[in-house]
Amino acid sequence: MQMQLNAKTVQGAFKAQRPRSVRGNVAVRAVAAPPKLVTKRSEEIFKEAQELLPGGVNSPVRAFRSVGGGPIVFDRVKGAYCWDVDNNKYIDYVGSWGPAICGHGNDEVNDALKAQIDKGTSFGAPCELENVLAKMVIDRVPSVEMVRFVSSGTEACLSVLRLMRAYTGREKVLKFTGCYHGHADSFLVKAGSGVITLGLPDSPGVPKSTAAATLTATYNNLDSVRELFAANKGEIAGVILEPVVGNSGFIVPTKEFLQGLRDICTAEGAVLCFDEVMTGFRIAKGCAQEYFGITPDVTTMGKVIGGGMPVGAYGGKKEIMKMVAPSGPMYQAGTLSGNPMAMTAGIKTLEILGRPGAYEHLEKVTKRLIDGIMAAAKEHGHEITGGNISGMFGFFFCKGPVTCFEDALAADTAKFARFHRGMLEEGVYLAPSQFEAGFTSLAHTEADVDATIAAARRVFARI
Ligand code: PMP
Repeated sequence: MQMQLNAKTVQGAFKAQRPRSVRGNVAVRAVAAPPKLVTKRSEEIFKEAQELLPGGVNSPVRAFRSVGGGPIVFDRVKGAYCWDVDNNKYIDYVGSWGPAICGHGNDEVNDALKAQIDKGTSFGAPCELENVLAKMVIDRVPSVEMVRFVSSGTEACLSVLRLMRAYTGREKVLKFTGCYHGHADSFLVKAGSGVITLGLPDSPGVPKSTAAATLTATYNNLDSVRELFAANKGEIAGVILEPVVGNSGFIVPTKEFLQGLRDICTAEGAVLCFDEVMTGFRIAKGCAQEYFGITPDVTTMGKVIGGGMPVGAYGGKKEIMKMVAPSGPMYQAGTLSGNPMAMTAGIKTLEILGRPGAYEHLEKVTKRLIDGIMAAAKEHGHEITGGNISGMFGFFFCKGPVTCFEDALAADTAKFARFHRGMLEEGVYLAPSQFEAGFTSLAHTEADVDATIAAARRVFARI
């Protein structure tokens, strides 16, 4: 019979008391056999997809390569949950990789989208909705006085790179090991000391000359930044970073690090860019820059700003943004940029997030979740370090602290793979990599979180 997993069964199963046993001097519960997860349809669909799409997917991490086992093929999503094609239900902590901050298929967002469909899905001409969303963004994000909408985070980041170069007349860009800024050539430069000196690209197809113009420093390490500025005097157009890292797991910056970058960029005449594609409107109403009180010159956004529709944006000081065509000479354009569907979803999403209590809810459920997962891990003798800010969280299977990508490499990725599979069997969908952050939403309840912690406790007992 098909095993249906949901928050209720997860909770119910936990209520049953199990005898305790002792491993070493760590008290553990007797290990129960994992629930059986039937994923026959997922396997069939993924098998076919492998003949049709490279690796069976349209974005690599979806293929579950770093945790093993086949990917789960989704059928539908709602609120805090997703259902696969075998009708298994999961509590979802990926949230479409960030956009689903109001919960999947939020009724208000859906109603606004349905109404917009009847008026048209794409105009290729100005529409007032662009002004409405622009005003919301300018109002909330400290660094943004003017904004350009695009269709993805990648497009926002590659456009801002061109803008930083156009504005300064310099070519080099400084990024940090383990930070991801989309897949433009200049950002696909591998981390690591050999690469910093040789400028080797991370992917075939990236010209060596492009990679050589990308300098890579260590996150939370101002000396590594100062050294690169000293060695490339007057050549660095800008510094780009994730103001809270999500793409090598969840890593927080120190306030001193962000302040130091601000000071260095000002002194060197370089543009400071916060890539808030992940953190934007998630960490706080005014993004990570408001949370930390450090204002960059330019900002990239994506994910939440589109409320589940494909949107990206970049914005900053008017003086810089006026470089962008047709106001200025830096060319950038897009057929679907600012389309009414995307604007509608973004407006409604930001409106919901602007209501009292939204960020308090995200902080409350997410802190409860991460504290609970870490306590459960330690109870069963597993090394773990982690944390959250608002609705973004992460943990590493190592002692920590993890302050940069190099530290994150100490994490036990094989254990993460076992944990990930175990949680799937228990009805919890986590990002399929140790090096990805997790996301909660306004739809996640304390009951969802408690069910997740209970599931984690059972999995920690058997991995
Ligand atoms: N920047 C950051 C910080 C991201 O997390 C991502 C995507 N995860 C991107 C840029 C690229 O965005 P997209 O996938 O929408 O192109």
